[in-house]
Amino acid sequence: MENYENGLPARWDIETDVVVVGFGFAGGVSAVAAADDGAEVTIVEKMPNPGGISILAGGGIATAMDENKAFEYLQHTNAGRTPDDVLRALAKGMTEMKDFVKDLVKETPFELEEQRNGGTYPFPGGEGLDGFKIAPMEGYEGFGWAKGLRGGARLFKVLLDNVEARPNISVRQATPAKRLVRHPDYGIVGLVAEHDGEEIAIKARKGVILACGGFENNDEMKRNYFEAMPVYTLFTGNTGDGITMAQEVGASMWHMWHFHGSYGFKYPEFPLAFRHCFRGPRKDDWVMPWIAVDKYGRRFMNEYPPAVQDTGHRALEFYDADKQEFPRIPAYLVFDEKGRKLGPVGQPTVHDENVSYDWSEDNLAEVERGWIRKADDLDTIAKMIPATDPATLKATVEEWNQVCAGGGTDRYHRLPGTRLSIDTPPFYLMEVWPIVSNTQGGPVHDAEQHVMDVRNEPIRRLFSAGECGSSFGHLYLEAGNITECFVTGRIAGRNAAGLDSW
Ligand SMILES: Cc1cc2nc3c(=O)[nH]c(=O)nc-3n(C[C@H](O)[C@H](O)[C@H](O)COP(=O)(O)OP(=O)(O)OC[C@H]3O[C@@H](n4cnc5c(N)ncnc54)[C@H](O)[C@@H]3O)c2cc1C
Repeated sequence: MENYENGLPARWDIETDVVVVGFGFAGGVSAVAAADDGAEVTIVEKMPNPGGISILAGGGIATAMDENKAFEYLQHTNAGRTPDDVLRALAKGMTEMKDFVKDLVKETPFELEEQRNGGTYPFPGGEGLDGFKIAPMEGYEGFGWAKGLRGGARLFKVLLDNVEARPNISVRQATPAKRLVRHPDYGIVGLVAEHDGEEIAIKARKGVILACGGFENNDEMKRNYFEAMPVYTLFTGNTGDGITMAQEVGASMWHMWHFHGSYGFKYPEFPLAFRHCFRGPRKDDWVMPWIAVDKYGRRFMNEYPPAVQDTGHRALEFYDADKQEFPRIPAYLVFDEKGRKLGPVGQPTVHDENVSYDWSEDNLAEVERGWIRKADDLDTIAKMIPATDPATLKATVEEWNQVCAGGGTDRYHRLPGTRLSIDTPPFYLMEVWPIVSNTQGGPVHDAEQHVMDVRNEPIRRLFSAGECGSSFGHLYLEAGNITECFVTGRIAGRNAAGLDSW
């Protein structure tokens, strides 16, 4: 691109009303909302196929029966880190969510399935929360480029069908946005993207919506913003591009430290990390076969906290300044033969047409690969963990077995129904690392999804949606990221479409 005048490219290759960057849930919903309000919309998506991390999700959508109660609950889960008016908009949107998705489902053969949610944490207002997902459908095989899928893929199919049904939305895959174009008088008037090695300038007569997710696959940002090192990812597409583009035009950032994650597995021969299996939000009758120990063979956490796929990594982040080390990165899972037989320990979810992995039902293929190490006695297991002497590991396991036998209080508060003793040889050991499902940090937005600058003024004609600057700044609301994509996508899409052309 050459010959900029007043910040404008000499020529626009494409002209549209609203440009949406990214085609996950947030981008798809933004596009549908803007299109339904009469705008012509162009989505630019970096990857060869749509779906982002959205397509990998469990697919639960948190909704609210009562706006005030949902607001109260969100206030507690955000602990003062997000302004009330932003949380109020989310709470209100949650009350409208089921009707909105019901309308989308009309375009498809799918149906909704109720999921009674309540709050994950015992905060006031939790009783006003509810939830649903898209029910499984016989014969539906999902997407060729995404594997290990659950409800998120069905929900994404609903959205994709709706995008494709709207003639005023066009989608450009393999077209990463590179930078925003700002006019000194009008604000953000378009962007420069790349396709097949060529730059293309796309004019947005009304506005641009950044819905391009977080920075799960940007090592430099993760080193800067997270305490834990390393933190492995499940999806390669999100490299914080929305953050960089927004920073270039003066946006302020929030919640950069916060990520939705857990502990999980990473092996050199596989490019992506795996989540560990779990049977949904914690219940007292879902057995988790393992305990986790640090490099010294000591337990240090509740392995099944209330939202294990949200805060499961947090205990691993501890840095011991006395010893100048992360003693829990990696940490180690220990379990026994009856635990091995409970089902697959790993849960691969992959958005990459060139990669797939099916974890074996009995975990024996992974033992064979060396991903799960096996020994006849705990002394030998202890020798596989650096800095662990056999007596310490034995004491850790004995204490755990007493907790399991007694049914009393565990010092880390693990619920009785989730416990399983470790006493039946052979024994097994797995390395685990902090895993990010999605980052929450990004550009600050107001209740209308305007991206805010460092003086807390809206940047004209620039909006965000979804995890490119999530409202969740402290504790995640389970099934809340998808909800947020839908609520904020609707707000951003409508507001962008409602602007006069510049
Ligand atoms: C395994 C897993 C399970 C989960 N389960 C749940 C759940 O059950 N409930 C829940 O609420 N949340 C869940 N989450 C989180 C939730 O899926 C995400 O937070 C949400 O889907 C993010 O949506 P998004 O649209 O903001 O980002 P994404 O879906 O990641 O979409 C962003 C898109 O932007 C594209 N992009 C990036 N950079 C550019 C660029 N420069 N130009 C153009 N495009 C770009 C990306 O390729 C991507 O397609 C889960 C996450 C994972 C990984």
